[in-house]
Amino acid sequence: MMERFAVTYSINDDEHGPVLGDDYLERLYTGCRWTEGPVYVPHGKYLLFSDIPNNRMLRWDETDGSVSVWRSPSGYANGHTLDRQGRLVSCEQGGRRVIRTEWDGSITVLADRWQGKRLNSPNDVVVSRDGAVWFTDPPYGITTDYEGERAEQEIDGCHVYRIDPGSGVVTRVADDFVRPNGLAFNADESQLYIADTRRNHIRRFDVGDDGTLSGGDVFAQDPSGRFDGLRLDSFGRVWAAANGVHCYHRDGTLLGRLEVPEPAVSNLVFGGPKRNRMFITAAASVYSLLLNINGQWRL
Ligand code: MG
Repeated sequence: MMERFAVTYSINDDEHGPVLGDDYLERLYTGCRWTEGPVYVPHGKYLLFSDIPNNRMLRWDETDGSVSVWRSPSGYANGHTLDRQGRLVSCEQGGRRVIRTEWDGSITVLADRWQGKRLNSPNDVVVSRDGAVWFTDPPYGITTDYEGERAEQEIDGCHVYRIDPGSGVVTRVADDFVRPNGLAFNADESQLYIADTRRNHIRRFDVGDDGTLSGGDVFAQDPSGRFDGLRLDSFGRVWAAANGVHCYHRDGTLLGRLEVPEPAVSNLVFGGPKRNRMFITAAASVYSLLLNINGQWRL
């Protein structure tokens, strides 16, 4: 029997009206160690997510609610996204690489090094419309054996990278983060939001046509933040995994929070056929609720 938890809505937006939805937050699955990396796969009507310390990925089937192991071992996979062709792109903390799963199930390594040095442990990833793959590289998969393999850090810090869609060359696009983590583009991809978990803030960059970043001012700050995954909705609001799920107006104003029974939220994604269902990974579980808003659609 699926467990349900009453929801209190406190997200008010003078411009677009209040965010409302189901009276209950559904817990779709529990019993994991640390869930992360939710990605909704529309052509399969399922959600994939990571259970990082258990070194596996799970699959929740939208058609019947069943959950099964999708990949194990998973290379301690963390964040995932779909590219423009609908292929799964994943960050492996244990493999210390970014990979793509091809239609035949084979794996293509997109990045495992920068200038000859092994990456730390890629955490989260997004693909822009030109096919470039952008990812963050904090050290959580190499500092202990809990969610990866303890190893020496080869790179002098934790940075943000872009994989060129033509050459495959990995370029460092930001080098002034402490713990870069979740990242998300706005609708026209002129701006990129990136969370810094250690600094409890989210920054916003301008994206150049040549794939460079500029700006990078702090967009949102919260002392209890511990920001992780990010997603935007169709109004350009930024939804951030932290202590619960925070919702920010595109001007940076905190509009409110969604409380989650397990407050250590790692990530979220909009899914379902209309992208109006929010899936939330939090601690041992995955939650979902249907809302009166839609996730962003990037053209
Ligand atoms: Mg993350």
